[in-house]
Amino acid sequence: MNKINDILEEKFGIKYLMPYQRLVVSNILGAAGVLEDEDEEGEGDASCYGKQIVILPTGAGKSLCFQLPALLLKGATLVIYPILSLMADQARRLSGSLTLRGGQSKEERDAIFAKVKSGECKFIIANPEVLLTEAMLKELPGLGIEHVVIDEAHCVSEWGLSFRPSYLRIGEIIAAIKPPLVTAFTATAGDEVLDTIEKYIFTEKAHRIIGNPGRDNIYYSVEGAILKEIAILDLLKRIPRPAIIFCSSRPGTERLVRYLQNHIKPEIVPREEIQFYHAGLSREEKDRVEKWFFASEQGILVSTCAYGMGVDKPNIRSVIHRDIPQSVEAYLQESGRGGRDREQSYAVLLYDNREKDSAILQYAQNIHKCRREQLLHLLDYEPPEPLPYNELCCDVCREENGGTTKDTKITEDTRFRFREVRSVLDFFKRNKRRYTLYEAVNVLSEFSAIPWTENEIKLLLNEMIRMKLIKKSRNPLWKDIIINHEYNIINLSLSSWV
Ligand SMILES: [Zn+2]
Repeated sequence: MNKINDILEEKFGIKYLMPYQRLVVSNILGAAGVLEDEDEEGEGDASCYGKQIVILPTGAGKSLCFQLPALLLKGATLVIYPILSLMADQARRLSGSLTLRGGQSKEERDAIFAKVKSGECKFIIANPEVLLTEAMLKELPGLGIEHVVIDEAHCVSEWGLSFRPSYLRIGEIIAAIKPPLVTAFTATAGDEVLDTIEKYIFTEKAHRIIGNPGRDNIYYSVEGAILKEIAILDLLKRIPRPAIIFCSSRPGTERLVRYLQNHIKPEIVPREEIQFYHAGLSREEKDRVEKWFFASEQGILVSTCAYGMGVDKPNIRSVIHRDIPQSVEAYLQESGRGGRDREQSYAVLLYDNREKDSAILQYAQNIHKCRREQLLHLLDYEPPEPLPYNELCCDVCREENGGTTKDTKITEDTRFRFREVRSVLDFFKRNKRRYTLYEAVNVLSEFSAIPWTENEIKLLLNEMIRMKLIKKSRNPLWKDIIINHEYNIINLSLSSWV
């Protein structure tokens, strides 16, 4: 595997493959005879390993499973994508790849074919509709395609039987090409789906590899936070960067970036090292932000789930979810953006108790079972082997292990900030009387070992107004005064706080 490791580091900036990636890659290269002189030889019947179904959640590092072998195979790799935007995305990121798409002239097509035949182009991207034309089926066998990859192969059963009948005819494309290597990737692992894939794509038994999406170099933790901005500021002091913060809305990403730019001292993180990303950006903007973040060593990217289709920045150290993700799958996928280089990374999910009920909320609230186990259990994957150093597993394991250890970079009690905000709110709820600003700040400070900053105080007071615990006075004589919602008062001289 030395050859593989060299290419991995040189072309992808990654030091190690994850175990299932290694398995897929060595099966492909083994069946192709590329690994003949290396130690992978002779492990079972390699001929059937040329035909694989790889079960892996979307975004769990599967592109590498075919991009890496493509650089070592003699022939070309054809990747069949079901979704146009995925195709475009992959094409943009894979330099030297060519895309066969509808509406191309004969000259354009011929130019592509010539480049593939000459070996100049090793990577072709296409969707099934384009490949199934008569002219194309005639051309395909002569192109020297060695590996056919079908991405999102579960679409065969999901869509093939309804609105994408061409998906059921992928077998015809493969029959025309007769490649020695075929790999289908699917995010869905149900028996029915796998049988359908086998029937329509392979027409014979294919080797199945089930990738474990739980990543042992990621420390999973959950932090309760009513004031998420404060929680994020606090987190960013404790966790390593580059970091990505996922938000559920586009305006949310922009707001958070402005907030962070205004609240983090530029000598700690320069303003240009904090940027946002979402699907509403222009193509040029997206490219600019992606390039910046890819190269960034200390950056903070605030993004919607739009970030990351096929982007494998290897050294993201922390992934924070400001908002509860759509689903457990989405959470694993998005948190899995961290630590592609296999170095220690952190995934932190922020939540508050007002969040809508969901599986992911149950995950957040269950502090009695290992986070990793919970996540995999929710996805019907086998429970993972316990980690030898379980203080690096998750907040639950770490708690069981007696709390802080010097090995982990998260050094404070992760639930601390949540508790203190809670206590403050509770105090103001129960103690309805008049406060001057001085008194109010004193109350706040009593609940916190770490002094609140002026901005945190503003945020907290704003949050209490939002929660209708306190309100501003309308009496002009009591300028800068807010009133506890029943009748009490906080006298504020922080003039610009709302
Ligand atoms: Zn654990």
